[in-house]
Amino acid sequence: MKDEPAYIVDIDDLEQDGRGESRGRAVGRRWLGIRFDCCNTYSRMYSNTAGTAYVGRCPKCTRRLSVPIGPGGTAQRFFRAS
Ligand SMILES: [Zn+2]
Repeated sequence: MKDEPAYIVDIDDLEQDGRGESRGRAVGRRWLGIRFDCCNTYSRMYSNTAGTAYVGRCPKCTRRLSVPIGPGGTAQRFFRAS
């Protein structure tokens, strides 16, 4: 078995960006905290335009990662890519 990310459920409150500034509810792109073990660093993954997956890239080695959004997935907000 490989250590692949599981599906992740689509959580509504993922929209908040940590600060409740008064710029209204912009588009509210969803994101996910992700830890890249390859470089021991953190980054964010944003949902793609279709809303079918979170996609991100390791800021150091630019390795790409995508996590599909689907029912029955995990609801955790922080993910780890090993
Ligand atoms: Zn990396």
